[in-house]
Amino acid sequence: MRFSFCPDCGKRLSARDLGDELNVPWCDGCGKPWFEMFPCCVIVLARRQGKYALIKQNSCEKSERDKFVCVSGYIKTGESGKQAAIREVKEELGLDVLSCSLVSTYVYNKKQMLMLGYAADVSEGEFQLSDELCGAQWFDVEQTVELLGKTTVGDELIKGILSKGL
Ligand SMILES: [Zn+2]
Repeated sequence: MRFSFCPDCGKRLSARDLGDELNVPWCDGCGKPWFEMFPCCVIVLARRQGKYALIKQNSCEKSERDKFVCVSGYIKTGESGKQAAIREVKEELGLDVLSCSLVSTYVYNKKQMLMLGYAADVSEGEFQLSDELCGAQWFDVEQTVELLGKTTVGDELIKGILSKGL
């Protein structure tokens, strides 16, 4: 998102060159730049004993509701990507993350979003699903590759995990 007005004082922004950055939106009133902002999210493949947990979400559009996807969510202010990944797995699946590694980062163009992709090894125990979900299931690697093949970033994430041996 590129700002036209100052989010603090509401004044129309002008453009200013700041070092190498040209035409940065600038508030003359507050005396500060407003660089472009975009949402940052984590996308997490939770796994245990060679199986991967995929979820179905209530919140998405009707046509998408039957689609299995990865756990994901927004990174909160002050939180690292890893902390967000651990929190989202706990919130959505009710499982503790034992270890978690960054696979890669992805741009999700449809929502102009930066996504940090993690592989997370999770604890034993049954799913305790968030109200945001209408289902979760364990899949073996072949099924996971096939199901995530219908998604955008999830597809890149599982392929990254497999190709890097993470
Ligand atoms: Zn301002």
